[in-house]
Amino acid sequence: MKPSQFNYVRPTTLDEAIAALAAANGDGKIMAGGQSLMPMMNFRLLSPSLLIDINRIKELDFLEEHEGGLRIGALTRHHTLETSATVNRLFPVLTETMAHVAHLAIRNRGTIGGSITHADPAAELPLMMLLLEARITAVSPRGKRVIEAPDFFVAALTSDVQEDEIVTEITLPALPAGAGSAFEEVARRSGDFALAAVGVVLTVEQGRATHVRIGVMGVGDTPMRLHDAEAVLMGQACDEQTLDAVVAAVRAAVQPDGDLHASGDYRRHLVGVLARRVVKTAWSRAEGQV
Ligand SMILES: Cc1cc2nc3c(=O)[nH]c(=O)nc-3n(C[C@H](O)[C@H](O)[C@H](O)COP(=O)(O)OP(=O)(O)OC[C@H]3O[C@@H](n4cnc5c(N)ncnc54)[C@H](O)[C@@H]3O)c2cc1C
Repeated sequence: MKPSQFNYVRPTTLDEAIAALAAANGDGKIMAGGQSLMPMMNFRLLSPSLLIDINRIKELDFLEEHEGGLRIGALTRHHTLETSATVNRLFPVLTETMAHVAHLAIRNRGTIGGSITHADPAAELPLMMLLLEARITAVSPRGKRVIEAPDFFVAALTSDVQEDEIVTEITLPALPAGAGSAFEEVARRSGDFALAAVGVVLTVEQGRATHVRIGVMGVGDTPMRLHDAEAVLMGQACDEQTLDAVVAAVRAAVQPDGDLHASGDYRRHLVGVLARRVVKTAWSRAEGQV
């Protein structure tokens, strides 16, 4: 199918883009990589009267170390995140994850700002935002606001970004010293959206977990941090009894729907299997064994 007719502008500054979006009065859409927006327009799920192409706004395209963490411009491509040595040094779990996002051609165009604003429940970057405790900056004629990741993902395909706002940057705070991390997903084919995925960040001191983050996606309308499962692992050793308890807590916390690709029961089973594996891998990495 073809999209409905629309007007197109390609500003070179953020101020011009903000003004164009405001002038569209709710009927404009930002286009970044276009990898989700264009299919939705072609299917006529969206019919904006104005497209504001932000690809020439250089001030949105940056990646820099900041206080041991990262500042990431909204226009940073998936492929840049995947291949950046700085990302790999500071957030190896992000490097590990990015290879699972779609296919190389899509990763060459798709952007972090577009992925998180689109908020697909089975997308990897929204889960990473929760796991890495991201803060997301959005600007509009009303000013600038910073949104914490748990407040950002509202529902399936719905983020907290308002119709006159542009996401400009994502800040990832430094990980705790000595943190181990890991990510795994299951998809039916390489490059497909995941049936389920789990990410973990943890620290270990004297054989016991001292900091635990467990995030999942593909098993609800939004990615989720599983605080009950995190509490089960905190202060414990990584033995089979504890892992069984973590897996049970993970499965108890999710209520996945079934669809053409997998039943809800299968997804719940899967997320437990992945959680066990990912906790073990992150633990080994925290202890320097991998
Ligand atoms: C075949 C296929 C397979 C895919 N598989 C996966 C996958 O496995 N995992 C995955 O995570 N993704 C997958 N994707 C999606 C891909 O990662 C997209 O690139 C991403 O979701 C959207 O990024 P984009 O930059 O292309 O955004 P766009 O398509 O340009 O925009 C998406 C939405 O975000 C808004 N937007 C974009 N940038 C901003 C901004 N800075 N401020 C405010 N609003 C903004 C747009 O208005 C639009 O509503 C797949 C896509 C395709 C076509």
